[in-house]
Amino acid sequence: MMNVLPTEFLTEIKKELNGSFDEFLATYEQPAVKSLRTNIMKVSPKSLENMIPFHFEPIPWCPDGFYFPVTTRPGKHVYHAAGLYYIQEASAMAPVEALQPKPSEKILDMCAAPGGKTTQIAAKMNGEGILVANEVDGKRCKVLISNLERFGVTNAVVLNEQPHRFSERFTAYFDRILVDAPCSGEGMFRKDPEACEHWSIKNSEKCADLQQYILTEAAKMLKPGGRLVYSTCTFNRRENEYTLENFLRNHPDFELIEVPNHQHFQNGLTDSTALASRLWPHLLRGEGHFLAVLQKKQDIEEAKIDKKSKKGIKNARIPKQISALFEAFIKDTFVEPMSFSGNLVLYGDHLYETPLDFPNLDKCKVAQPGRYLGEIRKGRFLPSHAWAMALQANSIKQVQSYQNRDRELYRFLQGETVPTTHKGWTLVTVDGYALGWGKGAAGILKNHYPKWLRFAYDQPK
Ligand code: SAM
Repeated sequence: MMNVLPTEFLTEIKKELNGSFDEFLATYEQPAVKSLRTNIMKVSPKSLENMIPFHFEPIPWCPDGFYFPVTTRPGKHVYHAAGLYYIQEASAMAPVEALQPKPSEKILDMCAAPGGKTTQIAAKMNGEGILVANEVDGKRCKVLISNLERFGVTNAVVLNEQPHRFSERFTAYFDRILVDAPCSGEGMFRKDPEACEHWSIKNSEKCADLQQYILTEAAKMLKPGGRLVYSTCTFNRRENEYTLENFLRNHPDFELIEVPNHQHFQNGLTDSTALASRLWPHLLRGEGHFLAVLQKKQDIEEAKIDKKSKKGIKNARIPKQISALFEAFIKDTFVEPMSFSGNLVLYGDHLYETPLDFPNLDKCKVAQPGRYLGEIRKGRFLPSHAWAMALQANSIKQVQSYQNRDRELYRFLQGETVPTTHKGWTLVTVDGYALGWGKGAAGILKNHYPKWLRFAYDQPK
């Protein structure tokens, strides 16, 4: 059934769409389109298509994305737990395709939770370079971290801050920045009745102010020659073309360039923003989006790296006995000795690998200072679930391998102990893909699958 659409929204959009208003309105009578994006760090889109028992159709503007039938539940398949894909709305895949992230770069996602676009950026970086993901809402930040963990992302630092609280630390630091801005969410109306209830022109105006603030902070952090992508999932001009025009007026060192893949989309609605892209739900298979690519000019601003920001992140020395526990774990667990390219840093009892060449973030809320390796508890090292999810099975000495039809696998995923012949830390896998840790003793594998992820996944018949 169609959600009740706000009257003022209908008045505005009717003016905008003229002749195609009825077609636009008709999309609300249809169910939302479903899609997912492959985690190319773990599996190729072709292999995923062959492995998964659902019918896939390609998404024209995202080579890793597929539509799937609304009657199927890939979110309940064990490959979802293994981080082989992210359920993501098709038009929401366009901004990162336009951002064009590359391995080894420094990339910032300013408004990151729940992490659809952050995981897409991370997959394209393939564990190389530095990815900073910021989310201002603490609860949403936890969901973001959980999604990064499931995807096996190893190069992310997660901040939980208002942008002005960290922008000075990262002056001209990033090669690419994504601002997937908070917006009035008109593109969510079909799947989320709450988005309809919360919508008002006043709220949309507030969003436009917030977008201006976020973009202004983003501009400071981009290197000359760098790329900034601005996107929203709303349709009104105030939060799209006008936000962009305002930004360009105040930032002559930026220019709008054409969105890659623009041939699949519509132009921006004003003359000065025609190079931006409109994704309309009645003209493609997706809920709709707006996106623009901005380039910071090379010649106007010199890269002024803040001297203070050159100091490394808090680099606490690891006490000798903790180092010894960690080294013993590596020796017992890994086939080859491991090397770390970052700093190993202890925060309380938690061990992280933080990036080298990183600004000092004292007094900023850092939700995750880098790759989480594990915890020291009662004189033992407990490896993190995040670490397990980023591992290749052939790097680990003891692997409990399941196929996706094995009943015992589903008992493990619900937190039960399972039989094993292994002793000590063991990586549990499904069809070769990491799922988590177990620890073997006396014929039993003690379950270390995180409690908050234990879940009754759909079992193949
Ligand atoms: N990029 C995300 C994804 O693809 O999963 C969706 C982001 S959502 C459209 C916008 C996010 O901006 C929300 O999570 C919201 O909490 C966050 N936000 C709200 N106020 C903000 C602010 N002042 N600065 C940065 N982000 C903010």
